Amino acid sequence: MGNAKTLELDDMRLFREHGYIDGQWCPADAGETIAVTNPADGVSIGTIPAMGPAETTRAIETAQTAFADWRRLLAHERADHLLAWHSEMLAHKEDLARLMTLEQGKPLAESRGEIDYAASFIRWFAGEARRLYGCTIPTHLHGRTLMSQHDPVGIVACITPWNFPSAMITRKAAAAIAAACPVIVRPASETPYSALALAELADRAGLPRGVFSVVTGDARPICGELFRDTRVRAMSFTGSTEVGRLLLEQGAQTVKKMSMELGGHAPFLAFDDMDPKEAAEAAVAAKFQTTGQDCLAANRIYVQRGIYDDFLRHFTAATEALRVGDGFEEGVDLGPLMNQGAIDKCQAHVDDAVANGARVLTGGGLHERGGLFYQPTVLADVTPAMTISCEETFGPVAAITPFDSEDEALELANETEYGLVAYLYSHDNGRILRLSEYLEYGMVAVNCVKITGAPIPFGGFKQSGLGREGGHEGITEFTEVKYVCMAF
Ligand code: NAP
Repeated sequence: MGNAKTLELDDMRLFREHGYIDGQWCPADAGETIAVTNPADGVSIGTIPAMGPAETTRAIETAQTAFADWRRLLAHERADHLLAWHSEMLAHKEDLARLMTLEQGKPLAESRGEIDYAASFIRWFAGEARRLYGCTIPTHLHGRTLMSQHDPVGIVACITPWNFPSAMITRKAAAAIAAACPVIVRPASETPYSALALAELADRAGLPRGVFSVVTGDARPICGELFRDTRVRAMSFTGSTEVGRLLLEQGAQTVKKMSMELGGHAPFLAFDDMDPKEAAEAAVAAKFQTTGQDCLAANRIYVQRGIYDDFLRHFTAATEALRVGDGFEEGVDLGPLMNQGAIDKCQAHVDDAVANGARVLTGGGLHERGGLFYQPTVLADVTPAMTISCEETFGPVAAITPFDSEDEALELANETEYGLVAYLYSHDNGRILRLSEYLEYGMVAVNCVKITGAPIPFGGFKQSGLGREGGHEGITEFTEVKYVCMAF
């Protein structure tokens, strides 16, 4: 059983150290386990089964069996199951949030927000299940009636990251289940317990066996099996662009329907018609949410020369006011990073920038708490050639670059293979319209920072992804359009 000191849940049955296959909690066949630790203190939380191809095949078999009945339910019956799952999540919000902070490290307030966000996708797609309309087509053939409908694609595999351990699962799984597809989730190694708690609640909500399974263990053998098996018809991935490319290659072997939510590297453009304090405080929010470990994090902050110095002053002051600590401590804004690799990447980006002429206005190294805590850092005079301008940092390091003209800002923003979100701060309506049109991003946030939610089509251009999650579009990632031509 997990570390009793750190586990203080009202409902301890939400903490599961087994995989969930065919509606059953099961260990790995070989009995082997993997340890999971709290990133805030390195203390073990518990273990998960080190499953592999055999357990994955069983999950596929039970999903295939479940599919036959699940697709025959009426849309409102599937919706009712989803709504029950949604209610279970909200009824256990505090426990789910605590479990998330324990394994992911994010401040408890952020975890609570994520549980609401994650649950909102379940409710949203319960609604979309009822609205999966086809259409009749004006006929081009005499005596024929033509129509199209959405069929479920079949078994869906979901591979998810650690930065949003709950929402990245429900955003996929609720859409797929609403579309009548059974789902197999392989959660990130660092944050499996949020996924397993979702399985416990799916069970209590009465989701039939095999409709939602969770397989834990090393990613490669599990995903290898999911890709090899032709019964798995779709693969929905959220994670880095690098791993996304590898998975796209594997998906080609059995021509799976692939959805990809990949890296961000977002630009934040602040023009000098803005109040520098207002723009700087918004940029701090856009940069440091989820401790900078966020695909929507503002990784490149471009500020027009007229407000550059004032912006730097306000941005640095707001950054220095951020409190770093264990996510369970009151008033903490930033938690630990997820692993040593994340710390090393932040430091490498800072060192490269400094070696090439950037100024450190605050931070620049490991936080005094040590471990996986990094100082919120501000770099000024960053240039496009520096590594931090070219790669997603995924940590609390803000890179700020001055620019002179609108054309230059647009060029800087688009000069990347990423295209998830761009932030634009300006009061000039003409500029807002021009840039909204020409920014090569799946999402553009104008004079605001918090833009996500279940009703919107979330996704990226270029190498930030393929397809959309949420919104009306999200459910169609898991359907095939069938054309039916009837002669009478
Ligand atoms: P990651 O390293 O790409 O891992 C994502 C998932 O893929 C994890 O479950 C991981 O398993 C698994 N994985 C890793 N290598 C694999 C392989 N060779 N075959 C099969 N699966 C493999 O990404 P991350 O570090 O967890 O997450 C950060 C990235 O996700 C960032 O780039 C961020 O921008 C992106 N992200 C994008 C969105 C979006 O909506 N666009 C949302 C959130 C995050 P392990 O855990 O075992 O490594």
